[in-house]
Amino acid sequence: MVTRSTSLQGRTILVADDDRTIISHVKVGLEGAGYAFVECHDGTEVLSAIRLHQPDLLLMDIEMPSLGGVEVCRIVKANQGGGFGFIPVILMTASRFGGKVESLELGADDYLVKPFDMLELSARVKSMLRLKALQDALLDKNRQLDRANRELEEKRLELLALARTDGLTGLFNRRHFEEHLEAEFARSERARTTLSCLLLDIDHFKRVNDTWGHQVGDTVLREVAAVTRGALPDVELIARYGGEELVALLPGTGAEEALRAAERVRQGVAALQLQVDDALVRCTVSIGVATSPADGVTSARALVAAADECLYAAKANGRNQVRQAS
Ligand code: GH3
Ligand code: MG
Ligand code: MG
Ligand code: MG
Repeated sequence: MVTRSTSLQGRTILVADDDRTIISHVKVGLEGAGYAFVECHDGTEVLSAIRLHQPDLLLMDIEMPSLGGVEVCRIVKANQGGGFGFIPVILMTASRFGGKVESLELGADDYLVKPFDMLELSARVKSMLRLKALQDALLDKNRQLDRANRELEEKRLELLALARTDGLTGLFNRRHFEEHLEAEFARSERARTTLSCLLLDIDHFKRVNDTWGHQVGDTVLREVAAVTRGALPDVELIARYGGEELVALLPGTGAEEALRAAERVRQGVAALQLQVDDALVRCTVSIGVATSPADGVTSARALVAAADECLYAAKANGRNQVRQAS
């Protein structure tokens, strides 16, 4: 965007009068100030010239053929918010009595009574051009402000997303999970629908780290997260619950369906093969599944605790398996 300087040099003045001697008179009077001039001789010409030249000031005779200055002024002011923008208008009236009050009432910003002297002309033009320059600067500032506000809002949303995302896996983090767990449980209770919770832990993950190094461990973790995400298309909330533990909430999902979903995840992970040098790294997961409503599951916490108990049982029973609360 171009920021216009507040200098009045090079500003464009549209002078309209059916009397060409007046136009010459005006141009002589404003000579040397560095203004550019556009000349018009009737009102309709003025309207097209405004579109073409976007002048900074209209200096306009009241009585002209086709459209008079008052009419043109009315149109210009009515279109200020639309195409034309703000253009100050100075109306030139022929007599000391006609049109002066009317000019101002119709939205002209100033007026000159013919015959006017050069000093008055120059002073009034300058003051109107200054007004226009200030208005332009204000518009620029507003645009800058709008842009800054939009950028701020984008940054705010980015930050918000970052604050709830786990950096390694791209899943939600535990804090976000905790913040939404209660609400999700309450919603399913209100709607009298089922809600299932899957709690997953990578088997012997310490060995992966010890054997292949922490970076390979990180990669395995990311892959397991991706497989889990892909195997649970209807998941409402999936998060990294702890180091190598993931948790998922499946609204509207009953026990049988949740078991099938967990089994999909388990098999997906077991099929993973990660090439490291000449070797293939593989891993398995154990998963605990709990579903509400169920006896003893009276809170969101209790639902997660039930899944955790099943996860523990899956580990105790040999790992690489899904266990479900009965
Ligand atoms: P189990 O089958 O009983 O779960 O055995 P495990 O070895 O997976 O369990 P344990 O809790 O003893 O070890 C978990 C390991 O996960 C230990 C820790 O170093 C590792 N871990 C936790 N977070 C990360 C991580 O972000 N990156 C990597 N590479 N390792 C992690
Ligand atoms: Mg005239
Ligand atoms: Mg583990
Ligand atoms: Mg663990």
